[in-house]
Amino acid sequence: MAWFTRQKPGVESGPEGEEKHIRTEGLWQKCESCSQIIWKKTLDENFQCCPQCEHHFRIDARARLELLFDGEFETFDAGLVSTDPLNFADSKTYASRLKSMQEATKLSDAVISAAGTLDGRAVNICSMELKFIGGSMGAVVGEIITRAIERSLATRAPLIIVSATGGARMQEGAVSLIQMAKISAALMRLDDAKVPYISVLTDPTTGGVTASFAMLGDLNIAEPGALIGFAGPRVIEQSIRQKLPPGFQRSEFLLAHGFLDAVVKRSELKGYISRALKFFCG
Ligand SMILES: [Zn+2]
Repeated sequence: MAWFTRQKPGVESGPEGEEKHIRTEGLWQKCESCSQIIWKKTLDENFQCCPQCEHHFRIDARARLELLFDGEFETFDAGLVSTDPLNFADSKTYASRLKSMQEATKLSDAVISAAGTLDGRAVNICSMELKFIGGSMGAVVGEIITRAIERSLATRAPLIIVSATGGARMQEGAVSLIQMAKISAALMRLDDAKVPYISVLTDPTTGGVTASFAMLGDLNIAEPGALIGFAGPRVIEQSIRQKLPPGFQRSEFLLAHGFLDAVVKRSELKGYISRALKFFCG
């Protein structure tokens, strides 16, 4: 519960001399990076980035699509659901985990596939939803992305995949790992057909997604400060028995070491992709 004095915007003024407090819960957000208290409306106007330190807050799959498309877009394969091939259970069953995630996110799985225009050019965009079991990739994510690639092949509309993921979905075991090969093979056909594919890596992009389609773009671009890697830093430190350098596995470090083509601010992302597609397609 948050309470603020009248000095802050959004607080009603009372009679002269009287200190009046009202609840402003939900109107403010603290920056995870610089601790600045930010008015949510300012965040909305600033692409969900901190106005002081430019920390990029995470945004959901739908907000991402609205950011990149010109206006309306058509979605595909929204009805695909996992069959729970391993009949998996940990602290709770995978079936019940899926059901609660579907209710919470109003999505059938961790990606939205959509078609529309970006600066007037027809494109297909797949946008991953981190809130759906950590944006993990199982059979449904693999199939939805593969179908989007096949639509790009058929129509020659460029493909953009925005990753936000912890990697392969543990609850589908080897079935989820197969998706890496399946999507990569489809991307090879897209490459043979010379249809551009731009990979956008957002915070976080890790595991089997980094090890496959997120790094296979004709351009691999990331948002500032995004965690990008395959294994987690603790696992790496334990296996190589060395301390990792500061900023390891963040966008800027990866750019400096040749793993990325660009780090682009969210406010400039659409314009950057538009110019890149103009370069690729003419
Ligand atoms: Zn900040």
